Amino acid sequence: MNFIDSHAHINDEAFDQDRDQVIKRVFENGTYKFIEIACETHEWIPALALCEKYPSRVAAVLGVHPQVAQTYDDSAKHKLIELLQNPHVAALGEIGLDYAYLHACPKETQLNVFEEMLALANKVQKPIVLHIRREEENYEPYDTAFHFLKHSWTPVSTKYPGVLHCFSARYEEAKQALDHGLLLGINGCFTYKKNEYIREAVKKAGADKLVLETDCPYLSPQGKRGTRNDPSNIPLIAQWVADYLNMPVEKLAEITTQNALDLYNLK
Ligand SMILES: [Zn+2]
Repeated sequence: MNFIDSHAHINDEAFDQDRDQVIKRVFENGTYKFIEIACETHEWIPALALCEKYPSRVAAVLGVHPQVAQTYDDSAKHKLIELLQNPHVAALGEIGLDYAYLHACPKETQLNVFEEMLALANKVQKPIVLHIRREEENYEPYDTAFHFLKHSWTPVSTKYPGVLHCFSARYEEAKQALDHGLLLGINGCFTYKKNEYIREAVKKAGADKLVLETDCPYLSPQGKRGTRNDPSNIPLIAQWVADYLNMPVEKLAEITTQNALDLYNLK
C-alpha cells in the first residue's frame, strides 16, 4: 500500500535531532510522499529546501496561519507571491480562522488576512489548505469561513480546489466543505475516544471525500498519544478509518492516495 501524508510539519523543531532518520523510516514504512506545510514566514525557504532534498517525495504548501496572521505585512506578501511560483509549491495554506487563538491574534486581523490569502489563491491559481478551529461549541468560525469562500474565492478548476485540514466538526460543517468542493483531511482526531461525532460525520461524507494527514508533530493517533507524531503513522490512521467505514484498508489507501495526488496536482 502506498500512502501520502497530506499535511505534515517535518521542519518543526521537534525533528531537529533526527529529521533525516525519521524521513528515511517514513519512506520505508508505506508513506511514500508527504506534504510539508510551511505556514509561518520563516518556514517558507526551509520547506522548499526540503523539497529539493527529496524530489518527487516532498511537496510544499506555503501560507500564513491564522494564529500568526499579524506577521503578514507587505514584505511577507511580496515574498509569498514570488515563492508561490516555485514548482515545488502545491497549494496555499494553511490559511483560515482559529478562534481558539484569539489571544494570540485578534479576530479582525485573522479575517483581514484570510481574505487577502483567498485573493492570493485566486491570483496564483493554487488549491487551498484550510484551517478552521472553533472555541468550545461555538461553530461560528466555520460559518464565517465558508461565507468568505462563497464571496471571495474562485476555486481552481482542478478536481479538488482545496482541503479542510484536521477535520474535527459535525456533518453540518463537513457538508458545507463538500459543497465548496473541498476534501476533508483526517488525522489522529478521528481516532480519539470522545470524537464519535467526527467519525459519524466522516462516515456520512464517505471515503471518496477524504485525504489522510498526521499534522505532525502534533495529534498522534490513539495508542500513541503524548508521543511525537510523524508520517509513518499514516497507515495506522488509515486502519482506524477503514475499520470504522467497514472497508478494506487497501481500498481506503488507494482512494485517499489518489485524492491527495489530485488535490495537490502530483504524479
Ligand atoms: Zn498543520
